[in-house]
Amino acid sequence: MNGTERRRPTFRPRLRELTAAALLCLLLAGCTPKAETPQAVPGEEAAAPPETGPGLVLQEEREEFSAAPEAAQPAGEPAPAEEPEDGEEEPPAPQEEVPAPQAEEPPEPVPVPEDESWKLILVNAEHPIPEGYEFTLMELRNNHHVDERIYPELQRMFDDARAAGIYPFVNESYRTAGEQQAIMDEYIARYEAAGSDREEAERQAREIVALPGTSEHQLGLAVDLIAEFSADSWPTWQWLKDNCARYGFILRYPEGKAEITGIAYEPWHFRYVGAEAAAEIMERGLTLEEYAAEKTAEN
Ligand SMILES: [Zn+2]
Repeated sequence: MNGTERRRPTFRPRLRELTAAALLCLLLAGCTPKAETPQAVPGEEAAAPPETGPGLVLQEEREEFSAAPEAAQPAGEPAPAEEPEDGEEEPPAPQEEVPAPQAEEPPEPVPVPEDESWKLILVNAEHPIPEGYEFTLMELRNNHHVDERIYPELQRMFDDARAAGIYPFVNESYRTAGEQQAIMDEYIARYEAAGSDREEAERQAREIVALPGTSEHQLGLAVDLIAEFSADSWPTWQWLKDNCARYGFILRYPEGKAEITGIAYEPWHFRYVGAEAAAEIMERGLTLEEYAAEKTAEN
């Protein structure tokens, strides 16, 4: 908010000066206000790297998604082209304007503080998914889905892993509440079949499976990753553990933290929290619960 207000005044005088300069330029004649808008060249977009390896996402969606940041590029300013003809009669004032056009920034993209609270949303047995929590799903290959906001970093992590000879594979991703319930039911049935009564079977299942509404998988921010071509996932998990923070992911259920997370060690479950939090959490060996508690205490 403050930043916004502070920044405005610097734009306004400049715009006024530019307008004055443009008017002057037109009056002096010889200035053809060429609309030199450096718009995105369609050809360049087409040259984007084709999906060569086993990408994470379906081709069309990937292109659509990667096109978005290009469109967000500000339209170029109709810069008063330097016309040498009328150079002599220019009073000193317009000359000052000459460097201004490059520096001119569109007044609109003043950084709007984005709500990033979704990155740190804490979901566990005590903190169910908030009512009305909304996000947009993106389809990956093999019918997997994640919150579209984590896709770019997830893809980057996969690309870098592959470059390092590690081939992660998305084994679990977004789940609906119904799917979460189905998993729970399956485990309950399994324990009942093994001799537990219903109540005991439910208790046992809850140690392994999150109740519907309390699973991070329902957020679309978590993925369970295994090795793609190998029965042994440990090298993959090790690489991911060592590197995930660089892409904003954390090992969500670390070893020896079950009393805090409520979930036993899961070397495969990675959760997106954003680069800043991920760096601190992984470096200090924290859980999201501990990190969130610290942040709450700070504020
Ligand atoms: Zn998981």
